Amino acid sequence: MGGVNVIVTKSLNHDDAKEKSGSIPQATIHSHEVIIIGGGLTGLRAAIQIADAGLNGAIISKVHPLRSHSVAAQGGMNASLGNVPGEDGKNDSWEMHAYDTVKGSDYLADQDAVELMCREATSTVIELEHMGTVWSRLENGKIAQRPFGGAGFPRTCYAADRTGHNALNTLYEQLFDRDIPVYEEFFVTSLVQDRGRCNGCTAIDIKTGNVHGFVSKAVLMATGGFGRIFSRSTNALINTGDGHALALNACVPLKDMEFVQFHPTTLYGTNILMSEGARGEGGILLNSNGERFMEHYAPNSLDLAPRDVVARSIETEIREGRGFDGGYVNLDLTHLGADRIMERLPGIRQIAMDFAGVDPIDDPVPVQPGQHYSMGGIDVDINGATILLGLYAAGECACISVHGANRLGGNSLLETVVYGRLVADKIIEDNPIHLEQDIEPIKLAIIDIEDKIGDIMDRKDNGNFFRVKNAITDIMFNKFGIFRDSDGMDEGLVEIKNLQEQFSKLSPINKEKPFNQSLIQFLEVEGMLKLAEIIALSAIERKESRGSHTRIDHPERDDVNFLKHTVSILNGEEVDITYKPVILGMFEPKERVY
Ligand SMILES: Cc1cc2nc3c(=O)[nH]c(=O)nc-3n(C[C@H](O)[C@H](O)[C@H](O)COP(=O)(O)OP(=O)(O)OC[C@H]3O[C@@H](n4cnc5c(N)ncnc54)[C@H](O)[C@@H]3O)c2cc1C
Repeated sequence: MGGVNVIVTKSLNHDDAKEKSGSIPQATIHSHEVIIIGGGLTGLRAAIQIADAGLNGAIISKVHPLRSHSVAAQGGMNASLGNVPGEDGKNDSWEMHAYDTVKGSDYLADQDAVELMCREATSTVIELEHMGTVWSRLENGKIAQRPFGGAGFPRTCYAADRTGHNALNTLYEQLFDRDIPVYEEFFVTSLVQDRGRCNGCTAIDIKTGNVHGFVSKAVLMATGGFGRIFSRSTNALINTGDGHALALNACVPLKDMEFVQFHPTTLYGTNILMSEGARGEGGILLNSNGERFMEHYAPNSLDLAPRDVVARSIETEIREGRGFDGGYVNLDLTHLGADRIMERLPGIRQIAMDFAGVDPIDDPVPVQPGQHYSMGGIDVDINGATILLGLYAAGECACISVHGANRLGGNSLLETVVYGRLVADKIIEDNPIHLEQDIEPIKLAIIDIEDKIGDIMDRKDNGNFFRVKNAITDIMFNKFGIFRDSDGMDEGLVEIKNLQEQFSKLSPINKEKPFNQSLIQFLEVEGMLKLAEIIALSAIERKESRGSHTRIDHPERDDVNFLKHTVSILNGEEVDITYKPVILGMFEPKERVY
């Protein structure tokens, strides 16, 4: 691996360390100008930019980069290439893309960030193509584009239904080509601060169980979403919101955490995603009476209304008794024909056959809504900078606020690559003003983490902490799911607090150091419990319905009181909630009609 590796004995300059140095003699400290935490699309795109600027950057990832959640993205990436004209023959534009995004966000997105993303979209898709991404093609050879929910044009560029897979592999090859160091299977445990700035982090090398230090001038968080805090999620098991928890513990605020996206079509039984591309290709939703029920909820956009609208509609059908036993509706693709399904949706077909025993060529696919995406995240400005100097965030873990209260499908992959690059540019620009590295604070941080792990391992109660994990995901889905009300949420908050209390006494059964996945998951759950409390408090305080946040007891959107971002920060053990204005601009808020 590149970078400077310094082996230090931990007894240097630290009284506590002297006592401990007998048991843990050495720690390794790695030095890079920029540390990127996360090897998904955001992290890889940023790393390429940093390397091309001649800076010494490195990636840390708790899994091999190609196992990052980005690899699972199916449907595509939005850009107003205009390769397929709209229904009225008109062509697409970045302004129309921005309009659909802001409307889809229920006017909570910051419009300067949306504008930047939409302006950069077309060159970003072309750039990926030049790097090697194999996009699906039209007959005339241009990049193919399909319709997606809430979009006025067929705007979503795709690689069959394996877009994330193709894009991530492309960027990984570029990374390889540049010999960018990757610390894979390293679990980051804390952000380190020195003189009011972030100057690195600590991480457990999962293979050995040793804690390493990483000293840097700047840190970029690219740690993805927190979907696994909810049961019934499309997300990878690794999506536990670690980056959010790390930021919180460093006293960096989170923003808009109440806005959690529930995707309308996840496979009944496993909640594996059935991409919106399936409806983009013409798939329709049917209830148990065989009715195309979206005609009642979104007469113009039908099955391609935005996700919040379709998810609520399905859930309403199920609650009112027009779903199938067990709680699902049907996604019918049979009329598309075998050729189209095999060409455009081969992965979807395979998943339906493997996990539901249904071949979509012949039979409808059983689907229900499930948690899918985190609109909220680490509070950053339009440059991806947090309030902590030297700490930046981009991608799903960040809330630069291009999605507001509800994300349009195809905009997230776009965000990862656009802002992965642009935030890296800002880090490059800021590099001269960041402080030179100092390893002393890193050494102290390593000792703190080892103390913490020692305390956890010494606890007497080896009760099953996975029960706590399951309980928290159920509470979140049932009390903070598609429909919310104050009684349910208040109950949920009490239950979260109880779980936090129980968890603080528990310890993993496995006390080994090497490959202790039990300890890693324990640390993930610790962060999940804190994030759950923040989601709960943010949702309880927002007394309106907007985008994905639907309150039965406050069914209307309330622009007078709530056209603002929720900002949450840790104050000791307590959570403080404040607000800040939404950045408006091109589009005045108005009622959303689809
Ligand atoms: C099934 C599915 C399909 C999707 N399809 C689409 C689509 O078609 N179009 C679209 O626009 N969006 C789609 N999305 C959303 C999109 O895929 C994600 O938002 C996006 O890929 C997130 O990328 P990222 O780089 O921010 O994070 P990720 O790809 O999630 O990567 C996070 C990285 O952080 C690392 N990490 C996390 N915690 C730690 C830690 N403590 N220590 C070290 N490393 C850590 C992980 O190892 C990983 O490398 C889909 C989402 C899902 C769930």
